[in-house]
Amino acid sequence: MDADFDIVIVGSGPAGVSAAFPLVEAGLRVLMVDGGEQTNIAPPMQSFLDARIQDKEQWKWMIGEDFHALQMREAVSPKLRAPAHEFVFRNFSTLNRVEGRDFAAIGSLAPGGLSNAWGCGVARLSDAELAQFPFPSSDIFKSYKVVARRIGVSGANDDDLSEYFGLDPWAQPPIALDAAHQSLYANYTKQRKKLAPLGFRLGRSRVAVLSDEHAGRKACNNSSNCLWGCARRALYNAADEIAMLRQFENFQYESGLVVGDIQRVGKHWSVCGIQKEGNVCRSATGRKILLAAGTLATTRLALRLLKSSNPVRLLSCPTAAFLLWMPRMFGAARTSGFGLGQLSFSLAIQDTISGFGSTFATTGIPVAEFACHLPLRRRYGVDLLKNLLSSCLVGNLFLPGHLSNNKAVLNEDGSLHLEGAYSESVSGLLGDAAARLRKAYWQLGAFLLPMSFTVGRPGGDIHYAGTLPMRKKPDSGETDLMGALYGFSGVHIVDGACLPALSEKSHTLTVMANADRIARALALQWHGIQK
Ligand SMILES: Cc1cc2nc3c(=O)[nH]c(=O)nc-3n(C[C@H](O)[C@H](O)[C@H](O)COP(=O)(O)OP(=O)(O)OC[C@H]3O[C@@H](n4cnc5c(N)ncnc54)[C@H](O)[C@@H]3O)c2cc1C
Repeated sequence: MDADFDIVIVGSGPAGVSAAFPLVEAGLRVLMVDGGEQTNIAPPMQSFLDARIQDKEQWKWMIGEDFHALQMREAVSPKLRAPAHEFVFRNFSTLNRVEGRDFAAIGSLAPGGLSNAWGCGVARLSDAELAQFPFPSSDIFKSYKVVARRIGVSGANDDDLSEYFGLDPWAQPPIALDAAHQSLYANYTKQRKKLAPLGFRLGRSRVAVLSDEHAGRKACNNSSNCLWGCARRALYNAADEIAMLRQFENFQYESGLVVGDIQRVGKHWSVCGIQKEGNVCRSATGRKILLAAGTLATTRLALRLLKSSNPVRLLSCPTAAFLLWMPRMFGAARTSGFGLGQLSFSLAIQDTISGFGSTFATTGIPVAEFACHLPLRRRYGVDLLKNLLSSCLVGNLFLPGHLSNNKAVLNEDGSLHLEGAYSESVSGLLGDAAARLRKAYWQLGAFLLPMSFTVGRPGGDIHYAGTLPMRKKPDSGETDLMGALYGFSGVHIVDGACLPALSEKSHTLTVMANADRIARALALQWHGIQK
């Protein structure tokens, strides 16, 4: 009996679509299944500030007709509170049976996955970082280039972070800085020598956001709507690429199928699950299965296949957030601008440990987001911040993933239990990082507001990886350099779950490049076998 398809890909997020392109281009019959269903939530058309003044119905998109924003008090990112993104996270934990203790277990059941709501920060790993991977670093460089050019990346290629970001010089020009970031950057260009001993380097953020038109998408118009959705599709979203894949006759896409199991059927593999429409069991067979359901969902599917209840390590980056005040900007009007990371920094902290972070404008983020951190009554806090926020920037900081001690284990009832913890050195490292950032930004005319440096919960970074790590000589529960699960030839892991290491840098471009690398190698192998 022949399989229905050559390859079945589970998941249509950044990893799934990146794996799909080389396979369909090579002529293979590919089925992509996704547990999410398409939604048609229109992103705001006016700029954020105009809509806040003029739109009488704004409560609907600010809070949600079902009061979504008010129910999400524990949200780790304001993106999880924005009603327009509610569909991205809806039902993920219930239908994938994932639960966290002391761990923010965030995942998506929506076409395009978490890229519907991500921060678009991109970076390439260096040769030194890739030394922890089981293949030569040159094997992934072509894939970095292919993916970055396909999705569209903007950012300068001649600043102090060019080498750190390591992207090819093709990037589109950076998106315009707002006045506060312009002032920071102008100071940095004068003072960079004084900041070098602190290990602080500043540069334009590299983001998967268009500053020029690309592949039918429009350039960013600085509307401050990034948090709420981009009507121009300037922000990369994997869901946009499903339509491109559908133009290939040998590609088929099925939404609403939540895969719960993978089984061997003779020589082939079958994905089985519940089709949400009609609540019926469905399956499809492939000669190979590629798991791209996002690290958490993929880990559960793989552990079920392995029938393993041994705990596995789950990498994620310890994080912190802070608020900067720039006295020079006090009294300036709030203006529209780009809502994601505008400037980024790398910070050498101790020996071989670096931190990475970006700063964001406060326009486009509801004031209430900050008021909860002030030691004032909410009413006074909001009044104070309304006056202060146009002279403030929000910053984040990520440490490398090996500093987390999270664990994932498959319960007897088939659910995935996650437990979060940071390693003991994290509080010292974050204290050191806060002190260095305070000094560096002071030198640039910005004041790190006291009590604003807050450490995030384990899992709050949403950069999950490493549960089924790639090894040169894999063992049970590990994958080979093609992402094949040891003992289950034909089942390949192509998302963050197979990354063996997680640096402090944004990791999604690496997830995508690795998926492209694996799929490219599979396509080559396939045609070799057919000859
Ligand atoms: C607020 C926020 C900000 C972020 N910022 C950044 C950033 O700036 N830079 C960065 O690098 N990363 C960032 N990330 C992380 C980034 O979004 C993820 O790393 C990336 O989306 C992972 O891609 P993926 O394809 O592996 O998984 P996902 O994006 O999670 O996609 C998984 C896909 O699988 C489907 N699926 C899940 N379970 C099943 C199932 N059982 N059956 C069938 N289909 C299933 C889902 O519907 C989805 O389409 C951010 C994430 C969030 C939420």
